[in-house]
Amino acid sequence: MLYPIIGYGHPTLRKQAQPIDKDYPGLDQLIADMYETMYNADGVGLAAPQIDLSIQLVVIGFRPYDEKTDTYLEPAEEHTLINPEILEFIGEKQYFNEGCLSIPDIHEDVLRHEGIRLRWYDEKWQIHEEEIHGMFARVAQHEIDHLKGKVFTDHLSTIRKTMLKRKLNDVICGRVRTAYRMKPNKK
Ligand code: ZN
Repeated sequence: MLYPIIGYGHPTLRKQAQPIDKDYPGLDQLIADMYETMYNADGVGLAAPQIDLSIQLVVIGFRPYDEKTDTYLEPAEEHTLINPEILEFIGEKQYFNEGCLSIPDIHEDVLRHEGIRLRWYDEKWQIHEEEIHGMFARVAQHEIDHLKGKVFTDHLSTIRKTMLKRKLNDVICGRVRTAYRMKPNKK
């Protein structure tokens, strides 16, 4: 089932999401539906608050880039993060161009650490504590921000945010066209 995605300006995107336990109702189906919703929207990550569920659940899926052949490999690398916690930031900060399914038509360079030490439960409730890098670490940091009520434009400079004000306002008012379904913000 495809969920509609909520946009910038919706109050759920500003809430601290709650941890869940193994008894969370319909969790397996919810995870499957989140992957479906993410891929349908051509996303590489989706956090539960983006479908208006304020819980600590994230799905990530991207095709790894192979430098030698300059191609994206199959199958996609997938990670389900339940109750994730960043334990440590590793390495230098780097810029990378980010977008967000909740903020259509805006792509900006965001400065984040190259690696993190991350603890999370996967969909089988196995606990992981790993140092992760590259695309996984980048997407994980973006999605974990969503669980804390943060979005990527919060990382931009005041000048950049001012320049984006009109575009952000269009998202708030639902004046955006997307190839996927969005749920309008309540007035
Ligand atoms: Zn996002």
